[in-house]
Amino acid sequence: MASERSVNVGGVQIGGGAPVVVQTMTKTETANLAATMDQIRKVAEAGADIVRVAVPRDKDIEALKTIVVESPIPVIADIHFNHTLALKAIDVGAHCIRLNPGNIGGPEKVAEVADRARAAGTPMRIGVNSGSLPKHLHELERENPVEALVTAAVEFVGLMERLQFTDFKVSIKSTNVPYTIAANRLLSDRIPYPLHLGITEAGTKWSGSLKSAVGLGTLLADGIGDTIRISLSTFHAEEEVKVAWEILKALKLREKGPVLIACPTCGRLQFDMDTVVADIERRLEAYEDPIEVAVLGCAVNGIGEASHADFGITGAKNEGLIFSRGKPLKKVPQERLVDELFLEIDKYAKTKRIDVDAGEQAEGAEWLQRIEEENAGELTPERLAKLEAEKARADADAIDEALSPVAGRRFTRA
Ligand code: SF4
Repeated sequence: MASERSVNVGGVQIGGGAPVVVQTMTKTETANLAATMDQIRKVAEAGADIVRVAVPRDKDIEALKTIVVESPIPVIADIHFNHTLALKAIDVGAHCIRLNPGNIGGPEKVAEVADRARAAGTPMRIGVNSGSLPKHLHELERENPVEALVTAAVEFVGLMERLQFTDFKVSIKSTNVPYTIAANRLLSDRIPYPLHLGITEAGTKWSGSLKSAVGLGTLLADGIGDTIRISLSTFHAEEEVKVAWEILKALKLREKGPVLIACPTCGRLQFDMDTVVADIERRLEAYEDPIEVAVLGCAVNGIGEASHADFGITGAKNEGLIFSRGKPLKKVPQERLVDELFLEIDKYAKTKRIDVDAGEQAEGAEWLQRIEEENAGELTPERLAKLEAEKARADADAIDEALSPVAGRRFTRA
């Protein structure tokens, strides 16, 4: 369940029903101020709400002094093993401190950091990682790794509460997707604090994105998780931000920029969809409006399942169609499809209106009808799916009919 409590990281609320916050971590040496600031600006532009920087040395604290002032988004200092660095990071104005109470040198040192953070009004993220559980939980970890992770997190929460410091969020991280899901489900039932979700060392852009989408997506769909970080093996932290946004957009948890939908293609494909879709996806990154843009590889099905899209294209051999919200906008030569699509999107971006020319619309509608008629007998993937859905519905209705206690009465199926 969603967290009851919240923390405020430099003006960004995390938890307590706030929208899920996107964060990432810089991959530069923090002490390299120019490179770190450059990356922070890039991730902020990509949509990161907050950013974390590693602070393993004193020279990183020096850079942090400037970073917290110049960063366009709040900055979390990531500290391991050295509580003095945590104290210094609080002193120079970090908006949040991330530390693992298990590796900072004992409860006294955690208490010292908590006192300093309380005095400064600095929240913390306390976290446990599957690779670094306290010794007394190692046996439990062998028997029940999920319970061991949750127990470690609950013990750290207990420690912070005894220190009368409750301005924190909690993370449980594992490289194992099922463990991450199970542990966060249990933890969300046991503590009221906001949860940070992530899959540790998820992998490359491809595999890491998938693992994160499965692990984090499952939890987020259940309402668990208040902030997310996608960990990818890439130097380009903005890629992590883009993946995080795709997950949130797919779950309709947040809106940001256009959503692209595209048919999977099949043997009826009429143009170089791979290149066209990649080109459209790249060009859409420049737009703010949360419009839906559809790309259909052929017009055999008409506009079909993309009829709700704000804008879309579909093609035949030499010509294609720009459509909008279920209606043709205009027929264009195949090679102009993408550029004409973006002319329409540009117009919308400026006026927030979709202009329809009745003559062009009629011409497009006629073209579409001709293509549909020419291919009326084709069993396309979309038509097969529609037939299957109709069959499933008919079967379900028949079962309802048979089970109905009153002869002839039918249950209404939503
Ligand atoms: S039939 Fe469907 S899947 Fe195949 S190219 Fe046309 S729109 Fe795409």
